Amino acid sequence: MPISGELFIGASRVATAETFSAKNPATGETLQPAFSAAGTSEVNRACDLANAAFDTFRNLDSNTRAKFLDSVADHIMGLGDELLDRAHAETGLPLARLTGERGRTVNQLKLFADELRKQGWQGIRVDPALPDRKPLPRVDLRTRKISIGPVVVFGASNFPLAFSVAGGDTASALAAGCPVIVKGHSSHPGTGELVAQAINAAIKACGLPEGVFSLLNTNSHQVGAALVSHPAVKAVGFTGSRNGGMALFKAATSRPDPIPVYAEMSSINPVVLMPHALAVRAEKIATDFVTSLTMGVGQFCTNPGFLIAIESPALEQFITAAGKAVSSTTPAVMLTAGIHSAYEKGVAQLQAQSGVTVVARGTESSSLNCGRAAFFSVSASEVLKNEALTHEVFGSSSLLVRCKDEAQVLNVLEKLEGQLTATLHLDTEDHAMASRLLPTLERKAGRIVVNGWPTGVEVSHAIVHGGPFPATSDGRSTSVGTLAIERFLRPVCYQDLPDALLPSDLKRDNVNSVPHRFDGEYRTTK
Ligand code: NAP
Repeated sequence: MPISGELFIGASRVATAETFSAKNPATGETLQPAFSAAGTSEVNRACDLANAAFDTFRNLDSNTRAKFLDSVADHIMGLGDELLDRAHAETGLPLARLTGERGRTVNQLKLFADELRKQGWQGIRVDPALPDRKPLPRVDLRTRKISIGPVVVFGASNFPLAFSVAGGDTASALAAGCPVIVKGHSSHPGTGELVAQAINAAIKACGLPEGVFSLLNTNSHQVGAALVSHPAVKAVGFTGSRNGGMALFKAATSRPDPIPVYAEMSSINPVVLMPHALAVRAEKIATDFVTSLTMGVGQFCTNPGFLIAIESPALEQFITAAGKAVSSTTPAVMLTAGIHSAYEKGVAQLQAQSGVTVVARGTESSSLNCGRAAFFSVSASEVLKNEALTHEVFGSSSLLVRCKDEAQVLNVLEKLEGQLTATLHLDTEDHAMASRLLPTLERKAGRIVVNGWPTGVEVSHAIVHGGPFPATSDGRSTSVGTLAIERFLRPVCYQDLPDALLPSDLKRDNVNSVPHRFDGEYRTTK
């Protein structure tokens, strides 16, 4: 289906008078068509429809919702090359990367479908009545988790598929039984519209209420704030800048009924290069580091932006090898002109800080919006007195911190804000030091990586893509993997309800067919 530039308000396609356009970041060309910009009345209509769909959608059995998620995945694949070509034009990301990202997007939808079929997501607990208990009898208590309500999702610029209209936040919210209103990222509205077509087709194919999904495009931040403030909306998922995330967090918490915001914002992903590992393979670690740093022009929330190591001859070897590798990297186009200029500004600000030395820059380019890799070094004592050295520069920029000893490594780690990841490069001989760093890393990060690189996030059951503030606004959860469903659920306890009134899976004859805890003990299905 051609891209129309219209909004998706439930099943209706809506055009508005105010429009905006996407630009190809590689050429500066304005892409057709122009896109309708939502206003307050579109926000209200989408939220009212989501509210109207909520009870029906949340009460569907798990298998029906699973089929819907599978159907969304199939319809996305059915969009074929048109989706990849449009995403390429709107983001400058290479087709191979976008093909991989599409695979990740449909696999994450299917993973949530499988999770629903396993039924454990309901978190059922049963404490049966103990009428003869002395001195007091115990009531019958049955708990399950239910959907929290309509969710607003803010798509990210750096993953036009996997963290966007049908990305992880949408997949986990739909899996939880929450209708979703996506505020599409203004840099890739055509990609967003194609994916919205796929979701709408799946809604029709599965006979679901239209309010299960809406896509609102806009170039005004007021619309985002209006969505977050709408009384029907009960939670928010966001990936993007710290300023944007915090503006929406403030809007959500200043409502008369504050709602949770799961905002993934900034992270510099510290990597500690341990002495023995450096001594035996400094050059290998250096080349792998530069591959991770420059992948996708560094436009990953997990980019390794901050290295920490103790001064040694092996560290000098690492710096020389990494500098050489960075100098031969070729700049590539960044996602938007705004992200490119923010990168240039961030690199210039970092370079201007006291004590910062340029180790290497990537080759120059005269092409539009191209990000040139940057590798800097600084002493730990400068970092300990200057917070600006620990701020994220979104793109392929990294700062190596030279420490005098282990105590300084720990002091630098303690100085950092919350992180999505923390990485250790180590050998067995480094284990003693690593075990002394781990308690700090656990407090600081959502995922601890050994002898790998933080870029590349597995979509699975045990993954955590989250972390203490400002990595996320709520470090108790993850935005990737099946655990993400928990963000959009809340527990309800049923006390002494007769079977006739209990939800189906909690009824006395049915509960043994779903995973649950019975009187505190874990039970799988019979
Ligand atoms: P962004 O500016 O935070 O935008 C993300 C989404 O939030 C967009 O839909 C945007 O709307 C909306 N938004 C932003 N500020 C808002 C506000 N004050 N009120 C209401 N809505 C608001 O992020 P971006 O465009 O993706 O990239 C800009 C910068 O964010 C980058 O340079 C980088 O520093 C950071 N970033 C970080 C990550 C990460 O994973 N840590 C990922 C991507 C970007 P519009 O579409 O209308 O702008």
